[in-house]
Amino acid sequence: MMRAPWPAFVCLVTCAFGSSAIAQAPQDSTSVKVTLLGTGSPTLSAERMGPCTLVETGNDRLLFDAGRGCAIRLAQVRVPWRELTHVFLTHLHADHTFALPDLYDMGWILGRVDPLEVHGPAGTGEMLTAMIRGIDPDIASRLRSVPTRKPPAYHATEIQPGVVYEHGGMKVTAFDVPHSISPAFGYRIDVNGRSIVLSGDTRYSETLIRNAQGVDVLVHEVVFGASTTEQLQITNAHTLPEQAGQVFATAKPKLAIYSHLILFGASDDDVMAATRKVYSGRVEMGTDLTVIEVGNNISVRRP
Ligand SMILES: [Zn+2]
Ligand SMILES: [Zn+2]
Repeated sequence: MMRAPWPAFVCLVTCAFGSSAIAQAPQDSTSVKVTLLGTGSPTLSAERMGPCTLVETGNDRLLFDAGRGCAIRLAQVRVPWRELTHVFLTHLHADHTFALPDLYDMGWILGRVDPLEVHGPAGTGEMLTAMIRGIDPDIASRLRSVPTRKPPAYHATEIQPGVVYEHGGMKVTAFDVPHSISPAFGYRIDVNGRSIVLSGDTRYSETLIRNAQGVDVLVHEVVFGASTTEQLQITNAHTLPEQAGQVFATAKPKLAIYSHLILFGASDDDVMAATRKVYSGRVEMGTDLTVIEVGNNISVRRP
């Protein structure tokens, strides 16, 4: 399933920024830092890049989805690509994967030496191979120019629901969510007694609610404002604010925060007002580069 245009198995990662400054370390050794790198949708926006969330604790730095502009946002938070070892894809819609070739090729050009481990649903290996094939000429020419350079590599792991990663006390669990493409996953991250759930792209989901019971942070997608037939069809694959509010009211996260906003002419305020009709707990609107620090308290910093 995995093509190896260059010797060995394919992998990706790296270090556009060497080991230089990292934004801000988590507040204490047991806290978890969640950065909403991209909170947008397929709609082009300079304010909201494609879906992409960074979860950091200790020495672990995991990327969930790699939507449009993800590499730019990583540069803004000064994350050394060399230290990015694992990417987890919620599903294979392109708005969640556009940045993979960017990370793969440009990261390598800028000094990455390690492979990137890409975890995702069935089809991830084939998709990644096809993406990489498209930049074969670029890589071949650069290898001819610098023959001493080691070829880049990636490794795709196609996952099933269940625990998909365990390292340094961090555990990542994938669970099925209902969407317009299958499989589609949400993820739960557990570490140091902290818990974060990412909804992925989903309709209202009881499975999500079960996995998000009492978590510290629930990052949830949302759709709102559809008026045309096509927009209503798209809406059927996602979660309306009132439905998300029901999810929050049932799962009772300490903090609910929206990301991956699919808004057809609606505003952030419209989304929050609709949510408030059914949910009175702590809920916030995510923006690109919002940092959520999950320690003894949960703080939200905006750029
Ligand atoms: Zn999708
Ligand atoms: Zn999406």
